[in-house]
Amino acid sequence: MEHRFEQLSPHILIMHAEHETDRPVLAAIAGADRTLLMDAGASPAHADCFRAELDRRGVRSPDLLVLTHWHWDHSFGMNAWNVPVIAHEKTAEVLGGLSRRGWSDDEMEELVQAGTISLESVQHIRLEYGEARQISVGKPDILFTGSLVIDLGEVSCELRHVGGDHSADSCVLYVREDKVLFLGDALGPSVYGGPRSYSSTAFLRLLDTAYGFGADWLVESHGIPMSGQAFRADLEPWERLARLADAFGSDRERVLLELKAELKLAELPADLLQGVDYFMAGAK
Ligand SMILES: [Zn+2]
Repeated sequence: MEHRFEQLSPHILIMHAEHETDRPVLAAIAGADRTLLMDAGASPAHADCFRAELDRRGVRSPDLLVLTHWHWDHSFGMNAWNVPVIAHEKTAEVLGGLSRRGWSDDEMEELVQAGTISLESVQHIRLEYGEARQISVGKPDILFTGSLVIDLGEVSCELRHVGGDHSADSCVLYVREDKVLFLGDALGPSVYGGPRSYSSTAFLRLLDTAYGFGADWLVESHGIPMSGQAFRADLEPWERLARLADAFGSDRERVLLELKAELKLAELPADLLQGVDYFMAGAK
């Protein structure tokens, strides 16, 4: 597997997302006194890969780790870092429960049945860990609610709980001096415990929050970093869709008709059409 790393801004090195096993973006934010790591990685192997690159580039090893939310691909590499972990109270609660479980095929099947994780996650976990799977889920050390500012020395980061459809514990991380906003998966649809869905209210509120930071760069965990301008252009059809879903609820035909008219398109692209399904699933 080829790994890609990028110096995104003066203080931030990222490891790009890898889609084969659903590995999200990892980031090291290096201040004058401390290095903060954003997300732990999907596994010790994922964590080791980023650590090796930090060493190779002479980046100070992480002193602290923050989690954007509890999902396995962001958190299961936690124990490989051996640093204090900062997380939202809800993130810690879920990981505390998962840390007492085993990860045999049967036990993972139980979690799928309970709607805690999805079959897709199980398939990715199998790929990430291989057959001789040894999973040890860590528990965060420092818990917060609301928001928290972390001073790294000449660089400060704001960690803010935003919630939303994807996961109730979703947080975003804003690196003030570099004007980079890490969104985690906050803008994604719900993925566990039912069909994928979006609520128009939550989606529009999250967009407002994201734009409110005035970031130069925005990074979604399973995407590529985007400039503020590119991000707005990318999200514009989705914002229109959310507003139409807000106005017309589960009237799918009306939403489709209005969206095609607004975008001046005869047919919607596949991803947006899927988005319509997500909003219909989340309509009240
Ligand atoms: Zn997630």
